[in-house]
Amino acid sequence: MKRIKVLSDSVRKKIAAGEVVEGPFSVIKELVENAIDAGATEVDVQVYDSGLKKILVRDNGEGIEPEDIKLVITDYATSKIDDVYDIDRVDTYGFRGEAVSSISSISDITILSRRQGNETGVRLYSSDNRVETADFAGPGGTTVIVENLFYNVPARKKFLKTRRSEMRFVRETFLKAALPHPGTGFTLDVDGKRHISLSRVSSLDERIEQVYGNEVTGNLYFESMQDIKIKISGFFSQPGFLRSSRAMQLLYINRRPVEFKYFGYILMKAYEAIAIRGKHPAAIVFIDIEPDLIDVNIHPAKREVKVFDQKYVESLILKLAEKALNRKHSFSDELFRDEQKSLHETVGISASAGASPGDLHSIGSLFRGKQVFHSPPVSLSREVVNEGAELYREFNNDNSIRILGTVFGTYIVVEQGDSLNFIDFHAAHERFVYDRLRENSREIEGQALAFPVMVELPVDEYRLVLENFQLLNELGFDIDDFADNTVTVRSVPGIVKDIDVKEFLADFTESIKGEKGESADFRDAMAKSAACHSAKRSGDHLGESDLEFLVRDVFSGDHEMRCPHGRPYIFSINKKDFERMFSR
Ligand code: ADP
Ligand code: MG
Repeated sequence: MKRIKVLSDSVRKKIAAGEVVEGPFSVIKELVENAIDAGATEVDVQVYDSGLKKILVRDNGEGIEPEDIKLVITDYATSKIDDVYDIDRVDTYGFRGEAVSSISSISDITILSRRQGNETGVRLYSSDNRVETADFAGPGGTTVIVENLFYNVPARKKFLKTRRSEMRFVRETFLKAALPHPGTGFTLDVDGKRHISLSRVSSLDERIEQVYGNEVTGNLYFESMQDIKIKISGFFSQPGFLRSSRAMQLLYINRRPVEFKYFGYILMKAYEAIAIRGKHPAAIVFIDIEPDLIDVNIHPAKREVKVFDQKYVESLILKLAEKALNRKHSFSDELFRDEQKSLHETVGISASAGASPGDLHSIGSLFRGKQVFHSPPVSLSREVVNEGAELYREFNNDNSIRILGTVFGTYIVVEQGDSLNFIDFHAAHERFVYDRLRENSREIEGQALAFPVMVELPVDEYRLVLENFQLLNELGFDIDDFADNTVTVRSVPGIVKDIDVKEFLADFTESIKGEKGESADFRDAMAKSAACHSAKRSGDHLGESDLEFLVRDVFSGDHEMRCPHGRPYIFSINKKDFERMFSR
């Protein structure tokens, strides 16, 4: 063993720099965040050789005072906080004052800056502990150029991924940083060529569209909720828009992209009813929270954030996702659209009057008031129409059920005790058929068709049907290969005897295309498709016994109150709410 000695400053700094700078992407992150902290509305990024040769970040932010320029590369020098207590109030990305200084210890760095309003600016060049400064006469704002990253840290170089994946990290970091700032324009040039250009736009939707393509926002629901100290909003996949990876699951806390272990899990829960194996919902969630309720100072790169009450935040994310999923199928936002604003105000006031500030759990209950069901005009309470979810437990098995009829060819209207219920019979029927197909985990009795049906399919779907003969058989479909992309269907499951076989096969094969699922998942997909293509549709005639059968099932409490795709199929209004509506 050699003797113990204190490491030199420069070695110490390089070791410490490793915590902040994992790769070129970390440099991009720190520099772009500094640009945003400086109030930039334009940020241009250039990388050469995946950032290992050169990274340049230029902004039109407030700039740096010439006298302060050396402090930028000094450890723990920052303009963003004065005291440790300020961390509780910090609304900038940075505050540790170590990023640029760390970067400068493992690269050659040039900083060009002119403060907006100053005649001249300043230029700093630092390499190998040598620092030079000079005047600078360029445009207002700051440009930081980092060259030869890690040239003096051999160990780190070894850990870098391939150039291609470093470049992918750079691109992801850039996009993640740009996403929550639609009011700032960003460009990314790679080896001298423009790769990405995000012009300034006026809303988050537009920025998301710029990043993910223009059909995307049409496939996402937007929802938001708020209480005194937290605002949470987000964009969520509509049921048909599931992705093959989690890449589009992003969580921001105070516009900081954060890694949160349970995020994917929470989303999975929200989408349970419509989940397809190997598919993931997209979700871009923004939490804005009073800075004193979070601790961002637990990770040097601030990738993780500690929140005051993780369970509560998790429950908010789940609620928001569920709310988004329920939304399209709720009572008209249309009808009461004008009321939306005043409703929110009312809730805001009652929130502050009704609960003491720190008492976030009790405030949580107020969220209910901000569902998409809005009170009719005048001063009616927000509880006039209940949310679907709240009804789940209200049904009980009594005999006070009266079927009043169907309306709009789509809904069964039912009086039950003190509530008036509207049931979307297609969605309800779909759920029951699905549950039945699923509950017989073994074979299901097929019912022979009077005349076998020949179905011709596109070639890849035909292949998929052949590959899944066995499973189809277990569900009660007796299918034979005929020839030339055509199959013969001889029997179908008894409970779906009216199924449109061709539609079913097309839908089922489409849903498993490209999937490498297990037979259980395929069976699930099969059950879903079968349920969908056999359930009564709007406009279908429902006989009295059909109605009774369906309604009894609805109130049996045996089924989830959503169709297999996640849409609620029942809403109710209770008598109290009626009375309130008539000011009784
Ligand atoms: P932090 O961001 O934590 O304060 P940094 O090392 O990233 O620490 O930056 C140190 C200081 O340099 C910042 O506090 C800021 O005053 C200044 N600075 C860095 N980049 C810029 C920039 N692009 N525009 C203006 N000032 C900057
Ligand atoms: Mg910083």
